[in-house]
Amino acid sequence: MDWPVIMEKTQDQITFLGAARTVTGSRHLLTLKGKQVLVDCGLYQGNSELRARNWQHFEFNPEDLDAVVITHAHLDHIGLLPKLVREGYSKEIYATPATCDLAKISLPDSGRLQEEDAYHHNKHGSKHQPALPLYTESDALKAANQFVPTPCHQQNNLPGGATYRFLPAGHILGSAFAEITLEDGQVLLMSGDLGRYGTPLIKDPTVVEYADYLVIESTYGDRLHPVADTKAQLKDYAQHIWKSGSTMIVPSFSIGRTQELLYYLFQLELEGELPRIPIYVDSPMATSVTHVYAENREELDKEAMRYIDEGKDPMHPSGLVFVRDRNQSKALNSQSGPMIIIAGSGMANGGRVVHHLLQRLPDPQTLVLFTGYQADGTLGSYLEGNHTTAKILGQEVAVRAEIEKLSALSAHADQGEIMKWLMCFKSAPKTTFIVHGEPLAQQALQKKIRQELGWDTVIPGHGDNFSLTN
Ligand SMILES: [Zn+2]
Repeated sequence: MDWPVIMEKTQDQITFLGAARTVTGSRHLLTLKGKQVLVDCGLYQGNSELRARNWQHFEFNPEDLDAVVITHAHLDHIGLLPKLVREGYSKEIYATPATCDLAKISLPDSGRLQEEDAYHHNKHGSKHQPALPLYTESDALKAANQFVPTPCHQQNNLPGGATYRFLPAGHILGSAFAEITLEDGQVLLMSGDLGRYGTPLIKDPTVVEYADYLVIESTYGDRLHPVADTKAQLKDYAQHIWKSGSTMIVPSFSIGRTQELLYYLFQLELEGELPRIPIYVDSPMATSVTHVYAENREELDKEAMRYIDEGKDPMHPSGLVFVRDRNQSKALNSQSGPMIIIAGSGMANGGRVVHHLLQRLPDPQTLVLFTGYQADGTLGSYLEGNHTTAKILGQEVAVRAEIEKLSALSAHADQGEIMKWLMCFKSAPKTTFIVHGEPLAQQALQKKIRQELGWDTVIPGHGDNFSLTN
């Protein structure tokens, strides 16, 4: 097939090919002196219209790409790499060391899920005969092998006469801004996902003072996160289940959220606020990710390092047991509380947590504690609606469990935190491109930036293309 020539190829430019006026599918193509560099290669997630985009042809020939730069290991930033590699991309994928380690866990897992989806569709009848996976575990392993670790702050060459360095972004372990210096000396800063100040375990977002062009995410560009003392809330719930002999089921995301919870539980125990309760992390992926957090010490913040220097493991409360084996997971069914089971997925729309919910929702000695936003259509969102029954894996069960939520946890900066980070710039970028947000969030952030900083901002549409020449 022919791939469209986007603009005269000798002119440095950026083309927005994903996460444009939507949150997922991050993909930005840089053309630098005729060379092509892709920043992030994410999966679209969400409704079927968005997911259908994952099956469309790339707007460029993957064989013609000269380099790929990755900001962090969430699937909406890396999840389409296996397809890119299967379709001919064979060169380096640059990322921080921790992002490389996390991608080696999450990409094969994503490949397995894609294969399971195809199997499920074939078994239950699909309009596509046969239904094929978007990519396979073997495609994902191949992509994972092309990762080249680049430590933060280190300046490295890119094709097209440019250089780049990663700067910690405070979002998840390994997350980074990609600061790209063009051949003419201009600086393009790609925020990836912007983290929050004071997040446990990982460093705060790096202060950036200068960029000629800025690409900024806007997931929460129109709102402020609720203010709450998450550790104190967790303490209350943990003490409650200890006194009542209940089981706490925590649907949790494997990367970031699970480690944060373990850290809070570790601190509560250290402070004498949490008696020794069995805590099961029932997820092979969350188990592997927790080990990656522990192995990438250079990414951890001062407080976490202080515990490590004292010989403590800040992600290991004393009752912690990692459950990898499926039979061991099933054996938890016959165990009574008090205990805490942390399992994926975070929205309870798959994974081992669904089996625990099926088993324990009818039991009033159960507390389900959600740890983040529950998207429409997920079991998590349904349970938040306080229904008396739920249909899980084809079975109708009574819901007698208590349903609670830790509402203040988020890995993304809110509007106030985005503005706080932007206010560190000493001069206005020539253009600030607002991406990775729903239109209303983007417009609210654009208005705020115009009002408070007076900067030129653009909300690019899909396929929009801008010159970066001086
Ligand atoms: Zn992310």
